[in-house]
Amino acid sequence: MAGKVYLVGAGPGDPELLTLKALKVLKTADVVLHDELVGPEILSFVPPTAQVHNVGKRCGRKSATQAEINALLINYTLLDLQVVRLKGGDPLIFGRGGEEIEALRDANLDVEVIPGVTAALGAAAAVQIPLTHRRLSSSLIFITNHRSSTVDTGDWPASISPTATVVVYMPGYDYAATTRHLLAAGLKASTRCAIISQATRPEESVFKTTIEELRSAPRLPAPTLLIVGEVVRLAEHPSLHEQVSTGNTFDEFVPLIAQAESFAHSEGSAENSERPE
Ligand code: SAH
Repeated sequence: MAGKVYLVGAGPGDPELLTLKALKVLKTADVVLHDELVGPEILSFVPPTAQVHNVGKRCGRKSATQAEINALLINYTLLDLQVVRLKGGDPLIFGRGGEEIEALRDANLDVEVIPGVTAALGAAAAVQIPLTHRRLSSSLIFITNHRSSTVDTGDWPASISPTATVVVYMPGYDYAATTRHLLAAGLKASTRCAIISQATRPEESVFKTTIEELRSAPRLPAPTLLIVGEVVRLAEHPSLHEQVSTGNTFDEFVPLIAQAESFAHSEGSAENSERPE
């Protein structure tokens, strides 16, 4: 007899954003395979008797390949164990959950998906940006910038409506390239955007700017998300008051970032965690 795999979303960071269903399967797991973005508070719900493997990527440390993860999922399940595959946010948004479902189906194994709060929703809530708005935004695009460092721009839509909100996952730090992609898609240089760092975690911070000024934005600690669109005008967050009171310039914002970064480094966070799972 074979066990079962639960493909579970851990949400964007705040453990209280876990679903009750996710909490239930975590508490009864025999094995947990988790990604780097899943924090220790959430892992503390796993029973001490369970085997816990970090299969994520971080700071150049070797991580398991997708084929190795698939093999672990299959082998543990064949041992009649309850296996939880725990991913940041939602497992089916930029999380390679689809590939794992296919591998489990091919092996005739049972899989159940438990959704999670994706980073876009966690970040938007944290900064009080309505991703759609009756007057400002009538559509929503989730996109990843992961391949923007190469010449391949195929992931960017050829045209983006000025009434769309665009959420860029894994935006990286090549803001000049992101600006080019957004302008090439037809958005105005004055369109608002916000970089949201470590959303729903205690170190959360935001930097608000425009597409035109994005290239001089600070490198906020990973993970970060970029939200683009007129709805960003409505953003509200304590860190924005610091930005405004310092005159809204990069140089004056730097000490705040340095503070946040030194905290993030002490927590083991790094630019490299801006990687797909
Ligand atoms: N499956 C995840 C996304 C995985 S890709 C989800 O649904 O959220 C990883 C990217 O998600 C990061 O590079 C970052 O862009 C974004 N992300 C995840 N957690 C975040 C957080 N707490 N704050 C800001 N961005 C986050």
